[in-house]
Amino acid sequence: MVGTSKKTKRKIEREGRYGRYKTRRSRRMAFVKVPGGRTVVQFKARKHKHARCAGCGAVLKGISRERPYRMKKTAKNRKKVSRIYGGYLCSRCAKKKIIEGARS
Ligand SMILES: [Zn+2]
Repeated sequence: MVGTSKKTKRKIEREGRYGRYKTRRSRRMAFVKVPGGRTVVQFKARKHKHARCAGCGAVLKGISRERPYRMKKTAKNRKKVSRIYGGYLCSRCAKKKIIEGARS
């Protein structure tokens, strides 16, 4: 926790990581520097889980994990891989699917 003031550190020691508010537990800590120069702790919503392959369930690479309202703003090339079945199947499953399609 670089940049955290002594006061904030003492507060965390005293009240624990989550303070007295239970809703904070489900959120993540973010250290934000405010215009006055202080660093304050803000509790923000957690990111979504990784996107997974529909075929085998492996984690899809190259896809950002954000909440839907942030996902709307992110660029298209960060939301999927520029390949057929990109963002839906992993490379191995896509390869299988393409070969299957060609044979039938
Ligand atoms: Zn797969």
